[in-house]
Amino acid sequence: MNLIFLGAPGAGKGTQAEFVREKTGIPAISTGNMLREAVRNKTSAGLAAKEYMDRGDLVPDEVVVGILKDRIGEDDAGNGFILDGFPRNVRQAEILEEMGVDIDLVIEIHVPDEKICARMSGRRVCEKCGSSYHTEYKPAKIEGKCDLCGGDAVQRDDDKPETVLSRLKTYHEKTAPLKDFYAGKGKLKTVEGQELVDDTKRLTFEAIGC
Ligand code: AMP
Repeated sequence: MNLIFLGAPGAGKGTQAEFVREKTGIPAISTGNMLREAVRNKTSAGLAAKEYMDRGDLVPDEVVVGILKDRIGEDDAGNGFILDGFPRNVRQAEILEEMGVDIDLVIEIHVPDEKICARMSGRRVCEKCGSSYHTEYKPAKIEGKCDLCGGDAVQRDDDKPETVLSRLKTYHEKTAPLKDFYAGKGKLKTVEGQELVDDTKRLTFEAIGC
């Protein structure tokens, strides 16, 4: 099964993608996590991506597509994958089709903009393994530490308020048109993001039927 998670920054698509990975064993592939790792490791993709990420813009398609192709070519993705954060514009969706990737279902996690800004301030991401937490909605067992690997769970640079506004603008201009793109193919299901992460999880599992 090939799934896509779509949603504004901070809507919780990454967290839901992880829940589905835990339940189904299908690997979750986050282009944002891979790009952040590339930036940390100062690879050529990372160096090309950094300035765009810092201002809340999309990284050029060829940079992201390069790392995505490598990742979905790995063994564990042979029986399907969950894409978290890709595609981010209609061109990337077309590239997926040109690659022969058949998408079964697109889950949009929908949260109104007003709620997003409040949520983002509490988000923490493990520097080592990329797991996400939220100070209020999904706290780590030990504040500031990742439950899974013990790495530092910190606020991402691009979760700072000024960058969040720019990322929301980018989402509405470039990513939101994907809703019509996939709705037109009968593949879109929208899940309303709830106050409690477990309630959203239940709705997400229902939508996927897993
Ligand atoms: P995310 O963790 O999914 O919110 O991604 C963080 C940042 O990485 C985004 O704001 C973009 O700058 C970049 N990014 C992630 N995925 C993509 C993509 N598919 N296309 C372009 N840029 C991306």
